[in-house]
Amino acid sequence: MHVVVVGAGVIGLSSALYLARAGLEVTLVERNQDVALETSFANGGQLSYNNVAPLADPSVLGHLPRWLLSREAPLHLRPRLDPRQWRWCLAFLRACRASRVEQTFGEMLSLSLRSQTLMTELLQHTPIDFDLRHSGKLIIHRSAASLSAAARLLERQQAAGARHQVLSASECTVLEPALAAVAERLAGGIFTPGDAVGNCRLFCEGVKRQLQGMRNVRLHLGEAVSGFERRGSRLAALRLGEDRLPADGFVIACGIASVPLVKPLGIDLPLYPLRGYTLSVQLNENLSLPKISITDASRKILYAPLGDSLRIAAMVDLGARTAHAPERRIALLKRQVGEVFPALDLRQIQAWAGLRPATALGKPIIDRAPGLDNLWLNVGHGPLGFTLACASGEGLARLIVQTQPPVDLAPFSLAAHGAGN
Ligand SMILES: Cc1cc2nc3c(=O)[nH]c(=O)nc-3n(C[C@H](O)[C@H](O)[C@H](O)COP(=O)(O)OP(=O)(O)OC[C@H]3O[C@@H](n4cnc5c(N)ncnc54)[C@H](O)[C@@H]3O)c2cc1C
Repeated sequence: MHVVVVGAGVIGLSSALYLARAGLEVTLVERNQDVALETSFANGGQLSYNNVAPLADPSVLGHLPRWLLSREAPLHLRPRLDPRQWRWCLAFLRACRASRVEQTFGEMLSLSLRSQTLMTELLQHTPIDFDLRHSGKLIIHRSAASLSAAARLLERQQAAGARHQVLSASECTVLEPALAAVAERLAGGIFTPGDAVGNCRLFCEGVKRQLQGMRNVRLHLGEAVSGFERRGSRLAALRLGEDRLPADGFVIACGIASVPLVKPLGIDLPLYPLRGYTLSVQLNENLSLPKISITDASRKILYAPLGDSLRIAAMVDLGARTAHAPERRIALLKRQVGEVFPALDLRQIQAWAGLRPATALGKPIIDRAPGLDNLWLNVGHGPLGFTLACASGEGLARLIVQTQPPVDLAPFSLAAHGAGN
């Protein structure tokens, strides 16, 4: 069987890898000249295997009025005359129920913990140098209420395999002395020792090299898919400019660009772009900086030491259409970061913006497309695509070769998102 995977971000690459390992003929098509040049390029670098709670949670409802009015809030809404935006926002608000959050967390945990196992296996099989660091993740909280709510949520997931430790403020600074400047403002923190950080783009490049070494894989870089040839309930080929590429099966893994690509096939994907930003700071002249991954829960800012730099990720801009980083948002982020790590020299930074391909429920879609027998979707990984990539790729491959996936994929169907079928 010959399968074409469209999109060479972290999700398309992992899909291609597990399909090729299952023995299929695989062609990976990417519109850019290289892999991982869009949302997988400079993300936060977190492999947050134990921290996969959706963005929608009951506390968001309390914060929302302040966030909507403040220009300094971690979530910024730019209202548009766009029914898709309002539909997505309403579904997001509905997803903020405590029972829904817990259910989604449990479903996501099954995928993320499987990804953790697969990542270990993958690297044992063929090592990839991507600045992987098993430092664990420390989430700092500035109020006792948010600390205990987060601890309760994780406690209820212990049976599903989540592992965490609740730390006092002083224990946080012992674990990470670079937090000294904010020590007095901390209520405490939650440490998840199993979490890791790594450079997503370097990981993607490593997977690309593995694929290039496999005889059953072809890479078509610099070729954009412009449409499909449909014959009844099957796709016969996809269009690449003037050319056509026939295959037995097709996988869409185009991040947020998946939405317009499959629309002509009558598929309305419930995804919306959530723009976020990262800053990369060289560490050589910034010695007293965090050695472990830190998340500042109240400001929703993530810090990951990656090789000789610090990657800082933050903000959710709802209503942004392009992956562009406005000066105003970057200046605000720099100021907020400077308050936590005053020793950090933020004059020389690389700023980057990306569009998280997000579903309102906060979980991806890994499913066969409705009404088509040979089209599959691996999309909607939102803020967690790097964390979930391996199990999403494996799950997708199992759906196509029709063997039982190790993780129940029913929660990741289009129907579970209230769409399709
Ligand atoms: C600020 C920010 C921080 C983040 N931090 C983290 C983090 O710390 N941990 C984590 O796990 N996740 C994080 N994420 C999320 C993660 O980066 C995404 O979930 C992931 O990159 C999505 O991967 P993807 O392969 O679906 O999409 P993409 O990486 O966007 O890849 C899609 C690919 O499809 C290609 N494509 C699109 N249309 C076509 C076409 N017509 N023909 C051919 N090719 C096409 C594109 O060129 C692109 O290469 C973050 C995201 C952002 C924005």
